[in-house]
Amino acid sequence: MHVAVVTVGDELLAGRTTNTNATWLCERLAERGVSVERVTTLPDRVSDIARVVNVYRADYDAVIVTGGLGPTHDDLTMEGVAAALGRDLETDEVVLEWLEEHGYSRSDLTEGTADIPAGARPLHNEVGVAPGAALERVYVLPGVPAEMKAMFGSIADEFTGEPRYREEVVADEPESALLDRIAALRDRFDVSVGSYPGEYVRVSIQSTDEETVLEAAAWLADRVASPAESSTTD
Ligand code: ATP
Ligand code: MG
Repeated sequence: MHVAVVTVGDELLAGRTTNTNATWLCERLAERGVSVERVTTLPDRVSDIARVVNVYRADYDAVIVTGGLGPTHDDLTMEGVAAALGRDLETDEVVLEWLEEHGYSRSDLTEGTADIPAGARPLHNEVGVAPGAALERVYVLPGVPAEMKAMFGSIADEFTGEPRYREEVVADEPESALLDRIAALRDRFDVSVGSYPGEYVRVSIQSTDEETVLEAAAWLADRVASPAESSTTD
């Protein structure tokens, strides 16, 4: 399954909020064997949300949109998603009943609180108030991390894929010096390889076949200087 993640919020683009929702969702999806193909952050602007959701739902098996729910003036995500799907926003009776059962009276709810695209499946908010929605493989979740996590839990089983196995080999060598061995590794084994420099270079090896990953990691580990080895020879 190939998925796009869209996070909405001016405060994300301004750097005032760190986009932990995207990272968290990518981790959960990767664990389930789902390939995340895009992570896009958009402003609180209906036209941008509508355009991007429209493109992504054609290109990917599902789109997860988070942030900008609820009835305040800058919460425009439902409107954008509804526009992408060619639907109106409608007050959802099931959401109102659910909120009533959970201690909210209709008269106290701000107008628009229970509005979701017409025909969407409501996703209840176990932690906050604003509901999410699912329609035509587009999932709309809240921005508040605790609310988003709880709501993703209720739909997680809808995201499936082939599990990928991953091993990491840490090398105490310059990344450029490793190029030949990484090329040989890729020739020899059917794996995808990522190289992440930092204090040491972390070489990440992935495949859907566990045995192949273990063999490839062992092969590479035998051919690079590990941090422990180099410190003992210092
Ligand atoms: P509510 O239902 O409470 O109105 P919401 O869905 O409208 O929430 P936002 O208004 O977009 O969500 O954001 C609420 C708060 O959640 C922000 O102040 C921010 O702290 C946090 N938040 C929003 N998006 C993200 C994100 N991508 N990563 C981490 N935190 C986020
Ligand atoms: Mg909000």
